[in-house]
Amino acid sequence: MEKSVDALYEKQNIDDESLKLLIDADDAEYLQEKARTVRRKYYGSAVYTRGLIEFTNYCKNNCFYCGLRADNKNLQRYRLTKEDILLCCTKGYELGFRTFVLQGGEDMTYSDDEICDIVHEIKSRFTDCAVTLSVGERSFETYKAYREAGTDRYLLRHETADEAHYKKLHPESMSLTNRKRCLFDLKKLGYQVGSGFMVGSPYQTADDLVSDLRFLQKLQPDMIGIGPFLPHSDTPFRDEEKGSLKRCLNLIAILRLMFPYALIPATTALGTIHPMGREMGLKAGANVVMPNLSPTGVRELYSLYDNKICTGEEAAECRECLARRVRSAGFELVTDKGDVKRNLTDIDTRGGK
Ligand code: SF4
Repeated sequence: MEKSVDALYEKQNIDDESLKLLIDADDAEYLQEKARTVRRKYYGSAVYTRGLIEFTNYCKNNCFYCGLRADNKNLQRYRLTKEDILLCCTKGYELGFRTFVLQGGEDMTYSDDEICDIVHEIKSRFTDCAVTLSVGERSFETYKAYREAGTDRYLLRHETADEAHYKKLHPESMSLTNRKRCLFDLKKLGYQVGSGFMVGSPYQTADDLVSDLRFLQKLQPDMIGIGPFLPHSDTPFRDEEKGSLKRCLNLIAILRLMFPYALIPATTALGTIHPMGREMGLKAGANVVMPNLSPTGVRELYSLYDNKICTGEEAAECRECLARRVRSAGFELVTDKGDVKRNLTDIDTRGGK
């Protein structure tokens, strides 16, 4: 196993069989140690924060794994207004956030003009901040308009890169081809692009995970978000097993070695599957956390999966709690836009090596 880790460290690539062995390795100490070496080389001890604003829980789609699916009639729906969103940003800015992530289901009620207006307003008021959108699949023209309005980054997980597996997780109306088209359009338009996948989704095999890694090699995203599949009681996958923490952590370390420059979050889903999951993610190579800036009154309603953590705390408490957790893992939460560092000349040495 050490040989495979060393090869991945040297060449950022190994063959499929070796990848599968690493994905399921029981003793991953060496793998994680090498991943930490790489993250320190590129990012020092810095951990970046993104202020997450979940501005609508309406969605026209019906992904089988997601609690926001249109057919979930048990969910109380909400939309935030432009003023609500700007209030979240103002609070977030005071707390030290320099990136705002506007995330929502595929809610077509907001027109392109409205989204552009919101982005433009945030960029004008908070000139040293980045805006990330995460609102699903759209046309090239719409992505172009969002970009021209000032959007810096876009998050769109591919979820699974295998065609047959994709069909088992999504209804007929959705297609992996379109998801991939979106991701490459976003790259063409000059966004910093984030993609990623669920770990342990129903029917997933180790080969599917290798396909995910191979797809990411083609896409070369700036951000890579992965998290365990967690079932939601109001979805067709309510009785399915949740994803494995071990696989998630091994994959974070593998991703760090394959994509040394990448921004990799220690996700809320990781913190949901284990009380120390986010700290473990940081130690495995993650370098981003995404505390919630949404008004506390709507947090519970952004119900992607059951038992989601951090739905009660105010934004300030969230940030303080995360700063403590990040410190306890041996890193430092910084006030910074947190752009991707593709070249070693841009390395961040804050917090020492
Ligand atoms: S995963 Fe995204 S697109 Fe699918 S139902 Fe949930 S919010 Fe909608």
